[in-house]
Amino acid sequence: MIFIAGVYPKQKKLEYNAGPNTCSSCGRYGSYEVYVEYNSFSIFFIPIIKWKKRYFAVTTCCSERFELDAQIGERIERGDNTQIRDEDLIRNEGFGRVKYCNSCGQPLDPGFTYCPKCGAKQR
Ligand SMILES: [Zn+2]
Ligand SMILES: [Zn+2]
Repeated sequence: MIFIAGVYPKQKKLEYNAGPNTCSSCGRYGSYEVYVEYNSFSIFFIPIIKWKKRYFAVTTCCSERFELDAQIGERIERGDNTQIRDEDLIRNEGFGRVKYCNSCGQPLDPGFTYCPKCGAKQR
């Protein structure tokens, strides 16, 4: 018996055209791009089960990625005129996390070994 089955994560961009907001990550004016992500289980490439959806908001100013409250995500997907508020954003630990120079406090990309501002070696 040939049995082709697979789980495919799918991602779709949603329409979200609310006006600019102050970014909760970098404080600049920006807007969000909203994505929905779900896994579907397929047999013979026919999706039969769709898992629980997860929604993400990505800031256009600094590309910070947040997980979005599922209720808000569903409303955006339905096309409701929903405004994303700071409290709807769930910070994903370890994702796009900023660390700070242990010498001068400059925000650093987590991959940096040396601070570009003061040159101090990072732990
Ligand atoms: Zn930002
Ligand atoms: Zn520094």
